[in-house]
Amino acid sequence: MKITGITVHQVDLPLRAGGMRWSTGRSLATYDSTVVRITTDAGLVGHGEVCPLGPAYLPAYAGGVRAGLAKLAPHLIGHDPTETGVIARLMDERLKGHPYVKSALDMACWDLLGLAAGLPLVTLLGGRHGRAVKLYRAISQDTPAAMAERIAQWREVGYRQFQIKVGSDPDLDIERIRTTGAALRAGELLVVDANTSWLPHQAARVLRAVEDVPFHLEQPCAGYDECLSVRARTGRAFVLDEIIDGVPGLLRAIADRAMDVVNIKLSKVGGIGVARQMRDICVAAGIAMTIEDSGGSDIVTAAVAHLAHATPEALRFSSSDNIGYVDRSIAEGGPHNEDGWMRASSAPGLGIAPRLDVLGPPLLTID
Ligand code: MG
Repeated sequence: MKITGITVHQVDLPLRAGGMRWSTGRSLATYDSTVVRITTDAGLVGHGEVCPLGPAYLPAYAGGVRAGLAKLAPHLIGHDPTETGVIARLMDERLKGHPYVKSALDMACWDLLGLAAGLPLVTLLGGRHGRAVKLYRAISQDTPAAMAERIAQWREVGYRQFQIKVGSDPDLDIERIRTTGAALRAGELLVVDANTSWLPHQAARVLRAVEDVPFHLEQPCAGYDECLSVRARTGRAFVLDEIIDGVPGLLRAIADRAMDVVNIKLSKVGGIGVARQMRDICVAAGIAMTIEDSGGSDIVTAAVAHLAHATPEALRFSSSDNIGYVDRSIAEGGPHNEDGWMRASSAPGLGIAPRLDVLGPPLLTID
């Protein structure tokens, strides 16, 4: 099979519940998502999606996706998309860095591999572990009472794991943790995500003030060494996210015992191929994972569900249903929240059919 053409589409995805606010005043009301369609000489079409959480979360932004695709996509024409490792190597040779640009192309090639094999990606990625994948819900930064109210609201549709966004004034953060912690019921789990914004002295102060509240701590500080210093001062379960952006960083963090859980976001690391590699390393090292992505809609959620469902249950901390955060569907057949869980499709490839009317005409056509 050979790639004969690639089209790039842009879709605005309005966020539900008024958007997302997280540390240091960052917020977003609408996702700017990019979808690629890869056409082949076999008549099969593969799909991928990538959606940064705005320009100030990770070193990625929506305009950069499209500029990068214009540079990179022409190099893929004529290559076999089912050779996902060869494609990944080629992309690394033709564009240094910018893993988020590669993520959508990688995803579309994996989709084509599944379509060609007649198998769902969950099978190609190791097979289906358990009935479904547990989801968590991120709680946008707000007043402590409003955040506790959100937890009650999302509990109604099945979520039992909640990640609250903190990282502003430490005193307010202490109150947020106390109020949301008190709102939890038996069997529920709280993660406190500072999204890189505390300095170590602030993290130490907050942690000391809420020692009696059970929660996992996520990415307290911006730097790796700062996070290590906070970890050395707390016995809390520790999650790293933003600063683990590939295999080398993961290996170092495992060697340093820097975390108990790592968040593997497909676009942060370059797509399904690298995320699978990191997944396998984490399984071998006993590091639990949140398998997810930074944003997006049905296509991203489908890719996340396949990799997460193909990961041993004991190593899955949680996953995210990105489609559950937006008001717009771009494809049929993708997974959805089913009482706090989601399942990978049994249909070949990603198991999705794009809504072409929503994708609209391509911004860019490469053939
Ligand atoms: Mg995080």
